[in-house]
Amino acid sequence: MDKILLMLQLQAQLNDATNGEKWTKGITKNGKTINWKRCIYMECAEMIDSFSWKHWKNINQEPDWDNLQIEVVDVWHFIMSLAIENYAQNMKGTVENLAIDISALESFSIVDIQNKAFDTKDNVIEKVENIMLLSLSREKLELEELIKDFFELTLMSGLDLDTLYKLYVGKNILNQFRQDNGYKDGSYIKVWNGDEDNVVMKRIWEKNAEITPELLYRELAKLYHNLNK
Ligand code: MG
Ligand code: MG
Repeated sequence: MDKILLMLQLQAQLNDATNGEKWTKGITKNGKTINWKRCIYMECAEMIDSFSWKHWKNINQEPDWDNLQIEVVDVWHFIMSLAIENYAQNMKGTVENLAIDISALESFSIVDIQNKAFDTKDNVIEKVENIMLLSLSREKLELEELIKDFFELTLMSGLDLDTLYKLYVGKNILNQFRQDNGYKDGSYIKVWNGDEDNVVMKRIWEKNAEITPELLYRELAKLYHNLNK
């Protein structure tokens, strides 16, 4: 429950900062339409690209499981955003209500265990395509089903609630940091002394597994500002 609530709160903050506080109405502060379902299925396509699915190209290439996990975390940003938007638009409640509801799902209990095992490529792709079908549907959103499929995919990708949380918080804080340092206008520096910011962020996590989101942000700021000297 705590981890789900924390992730939802971080996502809401990131969306407030990036898109303006009225983002749940489906439009950004810059007047752009928001389409979370499209964000989800496009990210799903990136997941499938972690596998050498093309029958005519690189046919013996091994799956890129690390990349798959990154894309799972990316899609989680959008599924949470869609869920928060859905709760706001249908008066179902705040992120706190959503966190309680997600924690009560049967599918939630399946990710709240320790897991490092991967499923097969074909099973993973089938699950990803289920998520695409749900996000491409023009019928009423089946939010519970979408979250259930996502949690199942999380497990199939060798992750669990704990590792999802870690990867998500890291990526969220990095996204926030990028937004605060010129990502939109293109002045942000992505490679820090030869390492991409993602790699630097992961290294901070590895050094301190118990680091809080606030401290992680401050560590990033310290390293980035030293870089600019
Ligand atoms: Mg992407
Ligand atoms: Mg991605």
